[in-house]
Amino acid sequence: MVAMTADPKTPSAFHVMLKPRGAICNLDCAYCYFLSKEMLYPGSRFRMANELLEEYTRQYIEAQGVPEVTFAWQGGEPTLMGLDFFRLAVSYQQKYRRPGMRIHNALQTNGTTVDEAWCEFFRENDFLLGVSLDGPRELHDFYRVDKGGKPTFDRVMAGIALLQKHHVEFNILTTVHAANAPHPLEVYRFLRDEVGTQFIQFIPIVERDNDTGFQEGEKVTGRSVTARQYGDFLIAIFDEWVRRDVGRVFVQIFDVALAAWVGQRPGLCIFEETCGAALAMEHNGDLFSCDHYVEPRHRLGNIQEIPLIEMVGSEQQWRFGQAKKETLPRYCQECEVRFVCNGGCPKDRIISTPGGEPGLNYLCAGFKAFFNHVDRPMRIMAAELRAERAPANVMAYLAEEEMELQRRFARVQRNDPCPCGSGRKFKQCHGNTKVNILKETI
Ligand code: SF4
Ligand code: SF4
Repeated sequence: MVAMTADPKTPSAFHVMLKPRGAICNLDCAYCYFLSKEMLYPGSRFRMANELLEEYTRQYIEAQGVPEVTFAWQGGEPTLMGLDFFRLAVSYQQKYRRPGMRIHNALQTNGTTVDEAWCEFFRENDFLLGVSLDGPRELHDFYRVDKGGKPTFDRVMAGIALLQKHHVEFNILTTVHAANAPHPLEVYRFLRDEVGTQFIQFIPIVERDNDTGFQEGEKVTGRSVTARQYGDFLIAIFDEWVRRDVGRVFVQIFDVALAAWVGQRPGLCIFEETCGAALAMEHNGDLFSCDHYVEPRHRLGNIQEIPLIEMVGSEQQWRFGQAKKETLPRYCQECEVRFVCNGGCPKDRIISTPGGEPGLNYLCAGFKAFFNHVDRPMRIMAAELRAERAPANVMAYLAEEEMELQRRFARVQRNDPCPCGSGRKFKQCHGNTKVNILKETI
């Protein structure tokens, strides 16, 4: 498929996930959506050539109309390219960098290949790493195994310890799936207290059950998280975070939500109104509309034949981006949390609305539950931000409210109105249950 002529709507900034080693990885995680992409290039060595790396670096820098540019390295496992490839990458970035331009590198890794030499390189060149870790040992090893089916937890933790020793900046990417979704606080506390990370992303696994590895069919695998599980997972962690960790631990979806509550753009493609600014490039220069759509019908062309900027601004890419908004079901358009959700990622829009309209997000029930649950604390944090105060003040407000509520509960008589504000008598409301009063009332 060939990209059409460049469009004036070309974004001034866009991201490309680079896959210099294609889908090649030293692990064999059961839910990985990318391993099957190997089938797209039969017979390939899956190694980006140095000439292509230089050509891409030149075009990518040239195409960006902003003073800060990020190179995003992904896989498969990008470190399987070896250190020399990345040394070369950094030297090309310096060669083509415009005066005053700042260049960043972000690299996603499974953490098992990291050694002292890698750490020194990452530190010297200010790489930001994303390390995949699904929680404590038994939850992580459930799906994240190597090619021999062996667990990987110890190797990942050793890699993280090395990164910490060398003061390499990293965040943790935790996929939320059937095995770890029922254990939100165990996962969160492990990452916060035992790994000691400050930056966490929770990525839901919604894995199509088909033989192609493409976004086709409506069935999902048993490894996938359910919508309610995902919502409950986020809610449990948010309730702990908002009482003790605001400003100390940064959870991507909480930050994104807060941005929406203060009226800013979410900054994460799945919650943007349109797609199109987050592309993916394979090891041979093939450019695709999105990392989740590396499949023939979403191939825009090859950067050795068509300039990158032309493909990014092409009619095909524009259509891909607009489709997200244009196919949004009425149910979403009328939804109270549409301003933050925007219907989620199109790849997950595989169910129908209660009224029978197709194109609803598989995770809808979870998004709805989570975004409604966080509304009040988000409003408090947004108000703090607008007043140029720290959102972390929400913790003190909630603590004060909860103490006051406890005082009222301590004084209440059986026939008094329930302090929770339900309008019922205490004996018919919280006086009659063992529910967690404080959790229910924020
Ligand atoms: S398809 Fe999904 S992952 Fe791709 S750009 Fe759109 S929202 Fe992002
Ligand atoms: S919560 Fe559900 S209905 Fe609301 S915008 Fe998101 S996907 Fe649509």
